[in-house]
Amino acid sequence: MHEVLEIVCPNCAANIKLPSIAPVHTCGFCGTAIQVDQIAGPDGKSITGEELPEETKRTLIFKDHYIVRANYTGNEARTIMQDWIKKLPQAPQDFENSATITKQELKFYPIWVGEFTASSRYAGLDDWPEFHRPAYDRAGWYEHVSYTRRTETGFVLREYNIPLLGMKNIPNHLRNFIVPTTSKEYFDITHVKELGGIVEDSQYSVEDAQRTLRLAVFNRQMNEMRKEVHTITNREDDLEEGDIFYIQFPVYEIEFNYNKKKYQAFIDGSTGRIIHIDVPISRKFKLFSLIAGLGQIGLGVGLGIFGIVFPDKFIFGGLSAGAGLIVFGSLLLSMSAKKGAQEKQA
Ligand SMILES: [Zn+2]
Repeated sequence: MHEVLEIVCPNCAANIKLPSIAPVHTCGFCGTAIQVDQIAGPDGKSITGEELPEETKRTLIFKDHYIVRANYTGNEARTIMQDWIKKLPQAPQDFENSATITKQELKFYPIWVGEFTASSRYAGLDDWPEFHRPAYDRAGWYEHVSYTRRTETGFVLREYNIPLLGMKNIPNHLRNFIVPTTSKEYFDITHVKELGGIVEDSQYSVEDAQRTLRLAVFNRQMNEMRKEVHTITNREDDLEEGDIFYIQFPVYEIEFNYNKKKYQAFIDGSTGRIIHIDVPISRKFKLFSLIAGLGQIGLGVGLGIFGIVFPDKFIFGGLSAGAGLIVFGSLLLSMSAKKGAQEKQA
């Protein structure tokens, strides 16, 4: 289905065509975040051509719209990728000359961040230990412990800053990426255009995002209570909602071919950090780690057997040294089979 919806930007009056799946769309002309779901009804009817009062137009714009700027150009992102790959021992030395970059895009992905203050009073059940029969040979020890259920009450007060990725079909490698949003600024479409970026739309409406974030706060409060009681019997929550931000963050996505195989790289456009790179592994390295890995495992097994056959001489040293070598060998083996690497996020 490629249903195209036509709307008029409530800010700059440009005619916009967009796929009807996006409840929030960033106008490509003025950079306004438009609440499309409030313009088009469930039947997909558009308001094209209709003259709206200024008051109504303002409600169609989402004002807390921000951007994390890309501080790196496409060329710089590519250099970061190549330099990083070259430093890896398993990567082929001829990478720079023999890999072909087939695609390179800068995408500004959507993320919602909600600020909340939550206070919850709760009552719940917990097991309390009771000690019986003091041990005769050890002071302070007991031979029997029984548990009784007890009602406990408590209070949890927390402040939250919760992120929600705006897309369900975001690339897998971005799912666990913690987006640095502290450097956000008001959204600026000229910055995106200068770098030839693509703005991705949120698949959640403002209300959807709010609801999901509130639920996350509710669950986190519950986890706090669960640290104290195993069953919650009663709770009263007070959720104070602060600001909800809609932020677009920059990611360079690079695709390249090496040795007739396809690889992908994701680089944070704001910090230049590697989010994920599939690293081609040179034949030489594969062969080396395979042989070395098998060798270590063989040696480990041998030492283990030696330890068992000659127990009085060697059992402990033989077995533990053998186990160590097997672990090390397996590590080398797994390296020979691996594809993909990423920088650890601090
Ligand atoms: Zn506009």
